[in-house]
Amino acid sequence: MTAQRVLWERLNREIIGCQRCPRLVEWREQVARERRRAFADWEYWGKPVPGFGDIEARVLIVGLAPGAHGSNRTGRMFTGDSSGDFLYRALHEAGFASQPTATHSEDGLDLQDIFITAVCRCAPPDNRPLREEILNCQPYMVEELRLLNRLEGIVALGRIAFERVQRILRPDHPLLPFRHGAFYKPADHFPWLLASYHPSRQNTQTGRLTAEMFAGIWQRVRDELG
Ligand code: SF4
Repeated sequence: MTAQRVLWERLNREIIGCQRCPRLVEWREQVARERRRAFADWEYWGKPVPGFGDIEARVLIVGLAPGAHGSNRTGRMFTGDSSGDFLYRALHEAGFASQPTATHSEDGLDLQDIFITAVCRCAPPDNRPLREEILNCQPYMVEELRLLNRLEGIVALGRIAFERVQRILRPDHPLLPFRHGAFYKPADHFPWLLASYHPSRQNTQTGRLTAEMFAGIWQRVRDELG
């Protein structure tokens, strides 16, 4: 195993064992115990969800937090819910994912040149992590950014991810404005930053984020990577 891989495994073990946020520890475990009827025969993951994807990736995707019955059930980013269905279909069409579906952690899905993380690793009530919970979780993304040594760009899914990435990478600068499709390259040493609406059910079912709009994001990523 390479030294880099060892560092990733150490980080992931630390994330999975994390209990820093009492409210989220209680909630993720409660959801895992009670389960949704459709998943009654599942053994929920019920723990923090580590990053997923290609550790040599040039592009990092940053989401918000695990879905209660998605990643909190399956243990893998964006796996097992409608947000993941929307995301992985688009990534597959753009050539970044080996398959268009993500149903469970052993389904064979493989990502190329993409690594996926989130600002908060535990499922929050109402999909809303508190500011202090996001801050508690921030060191994990900081470490991932350090380990992704081929990184060229970041796709932020939603305003919270878009702002958090900036707070980490350029804390002394005013926040850049968020709008879907906004692209920034603030400085030579800074990865480019592309903003997208989050593929939440609320956004995709209301037409705020369409498949076509989302495909445009991944086409832009392709163009940037050359
Ligand atoms: S949200 Fe992050 S910091 Fe808080 S308990 Fe989960 S993994 Fe730990």
